[in-house]
Amino acid sequence: MTITIALSKGRIFEETLPLLNAAGITPLDDPESSRKLILATNRADVRLIIVRASDVPTYVQYGAADLGVAGKDVLNEHGGTGLYQPLDLNIARCRMMVAVRDDFDYESAVRQGARLRVATKYVQAAREHFAAKGVHVDLIKLYGSMELAPLVGLSDAIVDLVSSGNTLKANHLKAVEAISVISSRLVVNQASLKLKRVAIQPMLDAFAQAVKMSAGD
Ligand code: ATP
Ligand code: MG
Repeated sequence: MTITIALSKGRIFEETLPLLNAAGITPLDDPESSRKLILATNRADVRLIIVRASDVPTYVQYGAADLGVAGKDVLNEHGGTGLYQPLDLNIARCRMMVAVRDDFDYESAVRQGARLRVATKYVQAAREHFAAKGVHVDLIKLYGSMELAPLVGLSDAIVDLVSSGNTLKANHLKAVEAISVISSRLVVNQASLKLKRVAIQPMLDAFAQAVKMSAGD
C-alpha cells in the first residue's frame, strides 16, 4: 500500500519538510535541484509528487494523491469537494488583502459607491469579500504579478497575499483592507482515509503533534 503526498515546490515544500521528518519521512531528492516530479522517500511505502500549488487539491480530490498540503487561499478557490481537511499546519502564513496605488483614495471611492475594478488570482475570495461589504466590483482574473495591474490601469485595486508588504511598497501600492489570515492545511482524500487508515492515521497524528510542538514559535 503506497501513500502519495502532493506538495508544491518552494515555501510549502520547505515548511512541510520538518513535519514530514517528524512523521519519519525524508525525501531522497530535493525538488529545487532535481527535475523529478515523483520523489522517493526513505520509506518504500511513501512517495511525494511535486505539483503547482493550486493543483494540490485536484490531485487529492481525484485520489491521485492520498494527502497534500495546500494554502487556505487555494482551498477556498477550489471549493474543497472530496477533501477532508483535518489539520491546520500553521505554515506559509500570510494575509489576503486588498491593495491599491498609494495615491488612490480607496475609502472615498467605497463611500461614493463607485464601481471598482479588482484584479486578482483569488476571484472566489474577492467576490465573497466585496459582496459582504456591499461594494460593486468588476473582477478581472489574473494568474500572477497582481501588483502590476493598478500601475498600468488594468484595475483600481488588487486582492493578493501579503506577508512583509515589501512587494507592495516596492510598487507604490498600499494595503487598505485585510480579508483573511492564510496558512496551509493538510488535505486528505476521503476514500484514502477509509481504505488506508492504518498507514495514514499515524502520519496525521505525527503531523498534529509536530504542529503542536512548534506552536508559539
Ligand atoms: P504558482 O507559483 O504555482 O503560481 P503560488 O505562487 O500560489 O503558485 P507559492 O508562492 O509557492 O505558489 O505559494 C504557495 C502557498 O503559500 C500559497 O497558496 C499561499 O497559501 C502561501 N503564500 C503565498 N505567498 C505567501 C507569502 N508571501 N508568504 C507566506 N505564504 C505565502
Ligand atoms: Mg507565489
